[in-house]
Amino acid sequence: MRIRVLGTAQDEGIPRLDCECNQCSAGIVRHGPAIAVESNEKTILVDAPPDVKQTIGLTTVDCILLTHAHVGHYGGLFYFGREGYDAERKPLHCSERMATWLRDGNKAYHHLVARENVELCPFVPDEPFELGGLTCHPISVPHRNEDADTVGFRFEENDSSLTYIPDIDYWTQKAERAVRKSDIALVDGTFYSMAEVGGRNVPHPTIPETMERFEGCETDLYFTHLNHTNPVADSSTPEYRTVVERGFEVVSDLQVFSLKYV
Ligand SMILES: [Zn+2]
Ligand SMILES: [Zn+2]
Repeated sequence: MRIRVLGTAQDEGIPRLDCECNQCSAGIVRHGPAIAVESNEKTILVDAPPDVKQTIGLTTVDCILLTHAHVGHYGGLFYFGREGYDAERKPLHCSERMATWLRDGNKAYHHLVARENVELCPFVPDEPFELGGLTCHPISVPHRNEDADTVGFRFEENDSSLTYIPDIDYWTQKAERAVRKSDIALVDGTFYSMAEVGGRNVPHPTIPETMERFEGCETDLYFTHLNHTNPVADSSTPEYRTVVERGFEVVSDLQVFSLKYV
């Protein structure tokens, strides 16, 4: 299994429109959150942020997996529709609630379903299923769920696995177990500190909280889904150095991971 990281910013990407924060004004560019998982059989696109086309390039996507119903994670589905690639029944794996919402609740994206550009293939959160020769474990996680529900994924091949949890409000035992079981985990690193949002209590675990929780854990843990305000988006900051010194990593756009049994 090979994992190609497509984007590592929070939903909108970095820079934010008309923003003068340190990262945006320093010219940092990170794309919206997505990865491509490549097995021997299939290339699986996990989430489709609005700017996914810029990082996925000419890759043929065999199927799509979605984590949740926030537009920064599915807005790029539009490229599979009439205005773009005009796919024919591209398998789209998501929870039943997400599938119902795409089919019946989302006027803009319902056309993809009605025109059969995508074929909805619902999974049951927390029940593993086979996909392209891999076992895919959808892990239900707490997150702001106005329209559907939210999952992360653990992809398993023989005895190696990778967990991807871009958005989580707080760590649950289930999500923590998935990370600890994995060789590599890419997890929610949206904020380094709530000072980035004026001290408001935005529901994401901060990077220091997550580092404390996983101190000494054998999994290679990488932070992703970085907000434009997050100093670790810039590798020259003291916060970035702290992450590395404590044995964690910040993932980069287009970084590639190969797990055994490729
Ligand atoms: Zn997000
Ligand atoms: Zn900014």
